[in-house]
Amino acid sequence: MAFEGLSERLQQTMQKIRGKGKVSESDVKEMMREVRLALLYADVNLKVVKSFIKKVSERAVGQEVMKSLTPGQQVIKVVKDELTELMGGEQSKIATASKPPTVVMMVGLQGAGKTTTTGKLANLLRKKYNRKPLLVAADIYRPAAINQLQTLGKQLSLPVFSLGDQVSPVEIATKAIEHAKEQHHDYVLIDTAGRLHIDENLMDELKQIKEKVKPDEILLVVDAMTGQDAVNVATSFNDQLGITGVVLTKLDGDTRGGAALSIRAVTEKPIKFVGLGEKMDALEPFHPERMASRILG
Ligand code: GDP
Repeated sequence: MAFEGLSERLQQTMQKIRGKGKVSESDVKEMMREVRLALLYADVNLKVVKSFIKKVSERAVGQEVMKSLTPGQQVIKVVKDELTELMGGEQSKIATASKPPTVVMMVGLQGAGKTTTTGKLANLLRKKYNRKPLLVAADIYRPAAINQLQTLGKQLSLPVFSLGDQVSPVEIATKAIEHAKEQHHDYVLIDTAGRLHIDENLMDELKQIKEKVKPDEILLVVDAMTGQDAVNVATSFNDQLGITGVVLTKLDGDTRGGAALSIRAVTEKPIKFVGLGEKMDALEPFHPERMASRILG
């Protein structure tokens, strides 16, 4: 599983405090020193670490622990609660438009896994939620991007809307939505262009699409393995375009966990899905509480 390092370190720390019948302030201090190091080692954003440590420390020396019959376990519960909160608390589900189709713009930098995730999400929507998604090939710049989506569509037996690479992405998106209405698709997933870096052209084009199609959801796809870079990318996209959620890909290869633990707190936008492999079924809704439990063991 992802972030073994963090998990192992935190579990060792929690082990020391678990059975304690009395938890002193210095026990908490010692524990928090270790938690802080574990989080920093996992590449969690410094500000996020500081605020997390402050919150847990306050609660861990407070009434709820002191009055508890099992203070050691109560402290661990505080850590788990705050980890869950850090990752967004409640699960944040994909939007559903009151009037179909729900329009989802998939955005991100090249290589993050955007096209793959578009296919995976369509697959998940159909399989798990019984939806009828339409995939839209609107990345007209990257050679083979359209082909890649069409291949995924074939593999999944899902339709892909394309007008080739000579028509503007705004027009492709608009026509795709008309087509979706006629064909009674309830989700439209628009695979937009990615670039190697965030630049004005990329953002302008995405803003134009957003303006025109008024998406219900703008999902930013970022690569978890890039750690704090992923957080910076998310911040930029959010500031410039406004996103509604994040898909964190390649969590299967992320040994640290910094992005997963920082993105929500830094951008205030929820992680909605996580990618856990290259296969088409390797996408899962993100559950903060389950993730916190997995990390703490
Ligand atoms: P795009 O340029 O953002 O559209 O990126 P692609 O969808 O082409 O993906 C880039 C590479 O990342 C491909 O080799 C994908 O198979 C791989 N990839 C995408 N998501 C995941 C994931 O969750 N886990 C792993 N291990 N690989 C992934």
